[in-house]
Amino acid sequence: MFADRAKIFIRSGKGGDGHVSFRRELFVPNGGPDGGDGGKGGDVIFEVDEGLNTLYDFRHKRKFSAQDGEQGGKRRCHGGNGKDIVLKVPPGTVIKEAESGKVIADMSGDNVRQVVLTGGKGGLGNMHFATSTMQVPKYAQPGQSAKELWVSLELKVIADVGLVGFPNVGKSTLLSRVTNARPKIANYHFTTLSPNLGVVDLEGGRGFVIADIPGLIEGASEGVGLGHEFLRHIERTKAIIHMVDAASTEGRDPIDDIHKINSELAAYNEELANRPQVIAANKIDAIYDDGQDPVARLKEEFEPKGIRVFPISAVSGQGLSELLYYVRELLDTLPAEDVIFEPEYFPDEVLIEENLPYTVTKSAEEENTYIVEGPKIEKMLGYTNLDSEKGFAFFQKFLKDTGILDELEAAGIQEGDTVRMYGLQFDYYK
Ligand code: GDP
Ligand code: MG
Repeated sequence: MFADRAKIFIRSGKGGDGHVSFRRELFVPNGGPDGGDGGKGGDVIFEVDEGLNTLYDFRHKRKFSAQDGEQGGKRRCHGGNGKDIVLKVPPGTVIKEAESGKVIADMSGDNVRQVVLTGGKGGLGNMHFATSTMQVPKYAQPGQSAKELWVSLELKVIADVGLVGFPNVGKSTLLSRVTNARPKIANYHFTTLSPNLGVVDLEGGRGFVIADIPGLIEGASEGVGLGHEFLRHIERTKAIIHMVDAASTEGRDPIDDIHKINSELAAYNEELANRPQVIAANKIDAIYDDGQDPVARLKEEFEPKGIRVFPISAVSGQGLSELLYYVRELLDTLPAEDVIFEPEYFPDEVLIEENLPYTVTKSAEEENTYIVEGPKIEKMLGYTNLDSEKGFAFFQKFLKDTGILDELEAAGIQEGDTVRMYGLQFDYYK
């Protein structure tokens, strides 16, 4: 079965927690802190595999987790890093945040490997927290939390030209006549609903790739919409060949057909409608001469708009080379780069969990000391520079806005008592 779409759940590894321990040596009654750091959590990485051409594998398994980092150990022992997980995808796969549809990464062109979720950093062990006032630090830094995300994967074929048109106008005939199917992409033929790709070979090795998008309009005739599913395959193409049945063998009006398809393209993506277009007026061998020349009508309607009309017969081959060389010339005037989707969603920046937990407790061991800890505090301390005036102001506002000050009051704190947050310690004054 052909699969060009999948939705999967990915999770990076949590960072290992820092360790709390103290040196124990003969004749040394109170050894210093020697708790080691936690290891880093594994990343979720996507990698292009040229040998793949469907997302079939993701139909079976949908959840992918990297390994968590290990906790630190005693005697300054560093916890092991969690293993990354590497997901192989075919070239042309676009990774999006599932809910918003925003692009995270486009696995095409030079982008063959991308870290999508980074693993959490390991926490520092208590060996880092000894100070002149605190020689027995009984706390260590927890590892950063794992990141979780639902992503959708979409395979968008990479073709220079999209061939569009209503059913039976002759798209398949043209494709089979002018192209050599590429063995690597032969699997696209598994279903009639997937695009057929072919390479047009022109003299001098200046070939290009055409995609026949069969699903585009077929849905319309069955009343199920105009097959937007398939429009996304043309998103990458640089130019569009409109094919019409100039002989109206099925009673269609070719001019009308082009307008219909163009408004469909525009409805899907305004940019698509603005791609350079060419009209292939097919089946000229079958035009019945009733005095109105359909090719002349097409030219009159579209050439003033800059869209060239080429009369052809896909069956006899008449007019084909003029059409194809013109398309080649057109492509040469366009930027050489492939259409690449720019990232709009950055998991590492966005996935700062807003509702991280924290706790406010009165220390059981030390007098008049209150301990505030938890991932929320951890995260805040990670990005705040308390030595700067701005950072310190932010810190004070944070304590107030999160309700930490209220909770300290509720826990019974008095002026002059000590507040401790991981390595940070200060006296409480209103
Ligand atoms: P598609 O649905 O657009 O892929 O159309 P097909 O390529 O399957 O063609 C539909 C029908 O039109 C077939 O019976 C073809 O033989 C016929 N056809 C295609 N091109 C020509 C042509 O240039 N001249 C004539 N007379 N018939 C054609
Ligand atoms: Mg066809």
